Amino acid sequence: MPMKSFLTDIAERSAGYLSGLAHRSVAPTEAAVDGLACLDGPLPLVGTEDHEIIAMLDQIASPATIASAGGRYFGYVTGGSLPATLGASWLATAWDQNGFSATSSPIAAKIEEIALRWLIDLFGFPETTGGAFVTGATMANFSCLAAARHRVLAACDWDVDERGLYGAPPITVVVGDEAHASLIKALGMLGMGRANVHRVAVNAQGAMDAKAMPAISGLTIVCLQAGNVNTGAFDPAPDIIAKAQAGGAWVHVDGAFGVWAATAPARAHLMNDYALADSWATDAHKWLNVPYDGGIALTRDAQALRAAMSIKASYLHAGQDRDPFDFTPECSRRARGLEVWTALKSLGREGLAEMIERNCRQAAIFADGLTKAGFEVLNDVVLNQVLVSFGDAETTERIIAAIQMDGTCWCGGTVWQGRTAMRISVSSWATTDEDVERSLAAMIDCAKRNT
Ligand SMILES: *Cc1c(COP(=O)(O)O)cnc(C)c1O
Repeated sequence: MPMKSFLTDIAERSAGYLSGLAHRSVAPTEAAVDGLACLDGPLPLVGTEDHEIIAMLDQIASPATIASAGGRYFGYVTGGSLPATLGASWLATAWDQNGFSATSSPIAAKIEEIALRWLIDLFGFPETTGGAFVTGATMANFSCLAAARHRVLAACDWDVDERGLYGAPPITVVVGDEAHASLIKALGMLGMGRANVHRVAVNAQGAMDAKAMPAISGLTIVCLQAGNVNTGAFDPAPDIIAKAQAGGAWVHVDGAFGVWAATAPARAHLMNDYALADSWATDAHKWLNVPYDGGIALTRDAQALRAAMSIKASYLHAGQDRDPFDFTPECSRRARGLEVWTALKSLGREGLAEMIERNCRQAAIFADGLTKAGFEVLNDVVLNQVLVSFGDAETTERIIAAIQMDGTCWCGGTVWQGRTAMRISVSSWATTDEDVERSLAAMIDCAKRNT
């Protein structure tokens, strides 16, 4: 098949898939998932025609997907893909650029530089800020904390990236008791230990209690959270950041989805003082609505990130341009900043603010509707996250299963401070108010039939 008809066939199949999302169950049927067995079998000795492979994937795998690209998926914190970003991602796959350096791909390097500048402007972070486009907030946390580790130890003349942590002076790491599991994992990957942290007590929303902060002195990294993955709560930055920095600490922010609050005027107050921090980790594939995978690591001092991540090799010549590999854990990588640039170009400042605000408003509609129907919302809905209890743990679990099975929408479960709850996260550009009404009606109907 000629390349053009091959790619046109894929475009048609993709369009068919996306338009079909309106009419199918958000969760795949059991039969569709069982059908994935057709992809199995012994490793083939000879190849299959390209167009046959695509047809097979579309017939077997498309129905087995979770319809998270549509407007009624509220699991985890999951964005869809803005149409322009899907297009940019396709085009970039055709380009197949190695985005590790300005020499290997001038476009990848240039677009990252622009996207980075736009992000810094958007969030109101200082102009000195440097950054890296990585795979997600887990690696963004990792990269920022690597920069933090480097700087904190450099203050006592210990070059951790040369000497490692063996024999190094210990660093105190302070986290809130509701810190995201991926931040704790990043600390483990950096050799600082998953359990070797000072956990600060949190309030009923999961935000750190500033009064419970230890006195800060010596080599310290304080990790704040902007947007708790269950409640959307923000740690009290105004009470913590300046004080921690006065004690010499590096302040890092895990803002996987929360930092985007800064872009919407009615939510921006949640990010008060967060711009004073030393580093910020966020996701692009959550609230910015780009295709997987994309996260962003930002450090106030670009050189701290570079010190932790840069490499030297005889075949790499240092040019004038910003080389992505100087800032990222990866060397070879796709042109990851492209979709971020595209999303910002597509939405503009106003469009982004509208999308963030709309999702927050939609979360409030869920909370109001469920409360009016007699169910208990467990969190203050300050952002896009809603936690609802349908009664005891068993009832709530049964109702979550019924909602998933019904297929109108999809929500997952959690245990929030000892109580089993359903999580609703409204994070997609594709979610319309009609999607919210339909989903809310389905939730209430499933709940009433299962209590
Ligand atoms: C989702 C999330 C992460 C992890 O992000 P990934 O993109 O899955 O790596 C970290 N912190 C918070 C607060 C999150 O919501």
